This record gives sequence, C-alpha cells and structure tokens, in this order.
Amino acid sequence: MRNAGLGSWPERRLTISPHRDALWFEGKTTSYAGFAERVRRTASALAGLGVVPGDRVAWVSGNHPSALETLYACGQLGAIWVPVNGRLTAPEAEYVLTDAGASIVVHGRDHGELADALRDKVPAVRAWVAVEPPTVGGTESLLYEHLLAEAAPEPRDLPVTLDDPCLIMYTSGTTGKPKGAVLTHGNMTWNAVNQFLGLDFGQEERTLALAPLFHIGGLNGTVNPTLLRGGCAVLVRRFDPGEALRVIEEQRVNSLFAVATMLDEMARDPGFRTRDLSALRAVCAAGAPVPLPTLRTWLDRGVTMQQAYGMTEAAPGCTVLDSADAERKAGSAGKPLFFTDVRVVRPDGTDVDVDEVGEVIVRGPNVMAGYWNDAERTATVMIDGWYHTGDAGSLDDEGYLYIRDRYKDMIISGGENVYPAEVESALLELPGVLEAAVIGVPDEKWGEVGLALVVAESDADLDADGVRARLREKLAGFKVPQHVEFVPGLPKTATGKIRKPELRARYQEDKR
Ligand code: ATP
Ligand code: MG
Repeated sequence: MRNAGLGSWPERRLTISPHRDALWFEGKTTSYAGFAERVRRTASALAGLGVVPGDRVAWVSGNHPSALETLYACGQLGAIWVPVNGRLTAPEAEYVLTDAGASIVVHGRDHGELADALRDKVPAVRAWVAVEPPTVGGTESLLYEHLLAEAAPEPRDLPVTLDDPCLIMYTSGTTGKPKGAVLTHGNMTWNAVNQFLGLDFGQEERTLALAPLFHIGGLNGTVNPTLLRGGCAVLVRRFDPGEALRVIEEQRVNSLFAVATMLDEMARDPGFRTRDLSALRAVCAAGAPVPLPTLRTWLDRGVTMQQAYGMTEAAPGCTVLDSADAERKAGSAGKPLFFTDVRVVRPDGTDVDVDEVGEVIVRGPNVMAGYWNDAERTATVMIDGWYHTGDAGSLDDEGYLYIRDRYKDMIISGGENVYPAEVESALLELPGVLEAAVIGVPDEKWGEVGLALVVAESDADLDADGVRARLREKLAGFKVPQHVEFVPGLPKTATGKIRKPELRARYQEDKR
C-alpha cells in the first residue's frame, strides 16, 4: 500500500483477520471486515463533503465507534482528525474549532445544542454532522448514518507518510488553556507498538475504552494499540463505575486505561467485590499521580495495575511499570517504553544523581512534531528533540522513574520543596478521606504553606487538627499542610484530573 499511516490499518486487517472482532458497542460486535467497510464509507462521505488532504475534521461526542471511523477515515484521506472535549463550554469549544481551523464537525447526540450555539460563530465549518439524531437541538445537522448509507465503500490508497499529521489532540487543560499537539501517523504507530510491548498485549486482546476517546489516554492508552494488534476495543459511552465493572465481567475485558479518580470510584462500587474480574490482566493507570492506597486496593483485589506515565505531547506513552514489579516498585512509573528515551535533568541540562529530583524530558518517535500554529510555545518545550514535560521526577538506583508532581503545582515552603501528590497520597490513607487536593497559599513567615482541601465521607469523624496530627506521623513537618478545609467536592477536568488553577484562584486570595 502507498498509505503508510493509520488509514491503512483497517485495510491491512481486512486482509489478515477479517473475521476477528474489532469493536463492541452497546451489545453490537463489529468484525474487522465490517469496520473496514465503515471506515471506507466514512472516508467517501467526508470526501463528498469536500474534505481534501490537510483539512481538519473535528469530532465531539461521548465514546462511540464514530470516533474511530472518522479518525481512520481521515487517515485514508490524508486529512487531520481533531477530537474535541465533549465537556467544553461553547466558548471553549469555539476556541478549539477556530484554532484548529476545522471545516467539518461531527458531533454526538448530546451535542446538538453545542452545534447550534457554534454554527454562526465558526463560519469556516462547512458541514455539521450528527452521529445520531440529537436529543436536543442540532436539527440542521446532516445525519451521519444517511451520509454513510449513500457513500460508496470504495477503497482508496493515498500516499500518506508516517511524517504526515494524523490528528491534533488538545491537552487536558489541567494547567491552563489546552494546547493542540500535532501527532503524526508515525507518532501513532510507534506509540501503539510501545504500548503493546510495555503492556504485554495478547493477540486476542479485549480492551475497554473507559476514558474519553477525545483524550490521548482514552484513545491511545490501549484502544489504538489493540486495533493495531488485531484485538477488540470495547467501547462504553461514558464512564460509570458500576457499568464499567459489569462490562469488564460480561466482555471478559483484559486491559484498560484509566486515571486514578476512575480507579477510586470503581473500587468504591459494590461491583468491585462481586464482579468477575479474572480476565483483567493489565490496568494501565496514568494521567495523574496514582495514590498508593488506590494502587494497593486493586493489587489486593488480584488485579495487576501497571502504573504508566505519559502526556498528550508523547502520544502518550513514555514509561510503564512492568507487572512483575507492581508490588516491589509500587509508586513508580517504571522504565521507559521500548522506543522512547527518558532522562531526568537539572536546570543546567545535566543528568541528576540517584534520587535527586529534576525535570523529566523525553525523546522518541512517539513525541509530537510540535503544537499546532504555535512555533513559539513549541520552541520553549522542544529542545534538541527532547520534550520538556514540566514534571518533577527522580530515578532510583535501578533506574525506575518516580513522578513527584508538576513543577507548576510544587509548593516552596520555607525553602523546602513540597510535592502535593505525596501529601495527597498520605491524606487518602486516612480513614474517612474520599478525595484530597493540596495547593500552596501565601504565608508571611514561610513564603508559601500548604492548604489541604478534603472531601470526607459523610459520617467521618475528622477535624483539621486531627488530620494534621495524623499527617505528622507520616510526613516531615514542613510537608504537613498548615491549613485543612473540608469541601463538598473538587473541580475536575473531563478526564478526572483536579483543576488546581481553579482551586488556587478560589483559595489563594482568602489566605493573603
Ligand atoms: P495541560 O498540559 O493542558 O495542562 P495535562 O498536562 O493534564 O494538561 P495531559 O497531556 O492529559 O494534559 O497530561 C499529561 C500530564 O499528566 C503529565 O505531564 C503529568 O503531569 C501527568 N501525569 C501523567 N501520568 C502521570 C503519572 N503516572 N504520575 C504522575 N503524573 C502523571
Ligand atoms: Mg501538560
């Protein structure tokens, strides 16, 4: 084939394993032959709407097969897929669609109102296409299934190279405005190979898409690697802990990607004890620090948790902890994935000593070309081919990576560096604590001190002094937050990460 990119994958699978299961969604299984036909029809439908190589096609929806159909169809057309976070407000989505310069928007049934709100605001969009009839609004959108029914399932083989852009994936926006990372077909391919080497995938892999497909972890953590490997991607529309556990049992799911908050919610669901989880081999946990108590709960349940580390800019996999090391190195993000180089460096660029904290930098064929339309920002993070992550980490004497936290979230208290993730992990070990976030607030004497925001169980017997006393038993004094406040909940991104900037904006002024 002339197409060396993602678009060729369904065609190659059609030749190699047409009868194997490719997708499962809401009770319906699609074979690789069926998937290949759907992708061809989607490509024809998009071409019919005028999509040419280099065009950007946006997709915004809950998890649905149309994510993969439009992604692979773009790959066949040499077009660029732009997944948009389905939980963005209209102005936020407008920013992403405008920044990416999307000409087509494919939206889910729950995004009819969003389409209506944006139709006049983003005039460059030529067509709005509804995957399913929208529940509210969106009456002017074309219907995806109609377009596909009318489109010919003709194969096409454009000369797409591994260096061509495959998608623009916006970062989670945990620390500010999302950035559009341009990921090439090569980035996608090498990440998939990296992942299934690191996660020890089998040929008959059945993976569960639990995290949103508009997020790099949801899309590329296990789903695309599974499709390259010839396994089946089991899709659920949205994350619900009880439903996830039910599907894991029913579909004999082997692997999944999740962020820590999802794993916590699942562990608290009654189904966690009663469902048959015996097929589950690899739970890939990444996206944020995984607190030790969460890790232990899953390990005690007999499920191997493979803590991994990555980011949108690296498509995303950088390191993973081998299942054999799960207990021995609990808390570590493991070793570099096969084709990726990982270093931890001082501000002057030299490598740190064992256990010394520095910035994690990564390089490899999975690392992005740069940010979309933002050469300036690209130049600040891509230095001599190394992506500077802004994450603080260290390596132990055997070369295992430990992620401390983001430098942006680090607290400097009386000249000592405090990594909130460590304090949050200690808080979560206290009985009655459900969620915790620690931020720095200004302090006259120490410059900055910690403020712990704690979500407690309704019947928990906890007070601020008691919490601080318990933390003093576990942590050095300078790490114990000066302030502890109980809150009903914490603001999170669509992928379940705590929005620290929002907390800082809310609480830093109070403490001044
Ligand atoms: P933005 O860049 O828009 O602020 P984001 O960094 O959260 O958002 P992602 O690319 O989804 O966007 O997340 C990557 C980041 O998540 C990493 O840089 C790191 O800070 C954090 N992360 C990922 N895996 C781990 C892990 N295993 N342990 C600790 N932190 C992790
Ligand atoms: Mg980031």
